[in-house]
Amino acid sequence: MTGNITVLGSTGSIGVQTLDVARMHGIKVSALTANRSIDLLEKQAREFCPKMVAVLDPDCAKKLKIALSDTDIAVYSGEEGIKEAARCPGADTAVNAIVGVAGLMPTLEAVAAGKDLALANKETLVAGGKVVSRAIESKGVKLYPVDSEHSAVFQCLQGNPKKALKKVILTASGGPFYGRTKEQLRDVTLKDALKHPNWSMGQKITIDSATMMNKGLEVIEASWLFGVPDEGIDVLIHRESIVHSMVQYMDNSVIAQLGVPDMRIPIQYALTYPERLESPVKELDLSEIAALTFAKPDYETFECLAICRKALRLGGLYPAVVNAANEAAVSLFIQGKIGFLQIPEAVGRALTDFDGNKDEFTLEDILEADRITRARILTA
Ligand code: NDP
Ligand code: MG
Repeated sequence: MTGNITVLGSTGSIGVQTLDVARMHGIKVSALTANRSIDLLEKQAREFCPKMVAVLDPDCAKKLKIALSDTDIAVYSGEEGIKEAARCPGADTAVNAIVGVAGLMPTLEAVAAGKDLALANKETLVAGGKVVSRAIESKGVKLYPVDSEHSAVFQCLQGNPKKALKKVILTASGGPFYGRTKEQLRDVTLKDALKHPNWSMGQKITIDSATMMNKGLEVIEASWLFGVPDEGIDVLIHRESIVHSMVQYMDNSVIAQLGVPDMRIPIQYALTYPERLESPVKELDLSEIAALTFAKPDYETFECLAICRKALRLGGLYPAVVNAANEAAVSLFIQGKIGFLQIPEAVGRALTDFDGNKDEFTLEDILEADRITRARILTA
């Protein structure tokens, strides 16, 4: 179990819930970071007394430095500041709860500093799976999944031989637009897309759930975490979000992990592994839920899922490209500049247009593919 963490993206949905878990179990906090939310960051810093905090936006960092001038807490700024927090001495685990590929460099920084990782930032593995896996292997650090589906799989794998694993079965709520036709998706608004049926999350992942890009990213994430190819990962729609995912073994026995939808369970397991401690999360009452349902996903309406699977099969830089296209398109959708269906269009076009693929590539190649793809969409 970890005793001391650094929380990258502490002011977001996962970051705040991570601090709930830390508060409950007396886990020390060495560093906290945010993009611009300095009021909340100041509050968190005063409660958890970290050695340092880092803010991406330099003006916000300046303001926070003044606000915290009566404390011993160091305030850093910019990307370098976030990296400084990622390698903060004293922390044994870095919780990465940053949203988007912006989390990739801090992940690598934390690994290089010998920290174990509790990873919520799936974009890190989607874009940089190969580079991150190599770094983790060479440093001999541990990687604990925080994403609920991947935590479920990780839990189902405990005590079983890895070589007996036949299939990973990721469940998906289907999001707010489950059951709709493409025509019915044409005019949906940002407000509609932000109404997730079961989970309360940050804006970007909520939109990703509505397009099912989130599940596509999770297929790629699962492939890196569990060493399973695209064919070894099934996706099942499960509207109730009670079964968080399953694994099937060679003997066709299926093991599932269940619980009420609350991220504090997977966050806590990543921090306390292999221990199981008490949790503030409500007990699961299956008699109250009464029925659990499962269905196949609609790959034609929710194209992002199919596009991600294709990117995974193609390999190389393609996953980084679809991720970058999605981040750019989602930001345009949030600003009201494009419609909902233009998100899958942009992601699909990015995959077809990308002509710089390589089997062997470096971190710089990933960042370059990300930059080119983003620029094409943002300037189109
Ligand atoms: P939020 O948007 O709620 O929080 C993101 C955090 O990252 C905030 O602290 C934000 O700071 C900070 N941040 C934003 N942009 C940058 C940047 N460019 N550089 C550094 N920091 C930045 O996201 P979530 O908590 O919802 O998601 C975080 C990650 O966890 C995502 O990868 C998501 O896919 C994954 N995840 C989330 C789940 C959830 O339930 N929310 C479930 C499973 C996975 P500020 O507050 O200042 O903007
Ligand atoms: Mg998930």
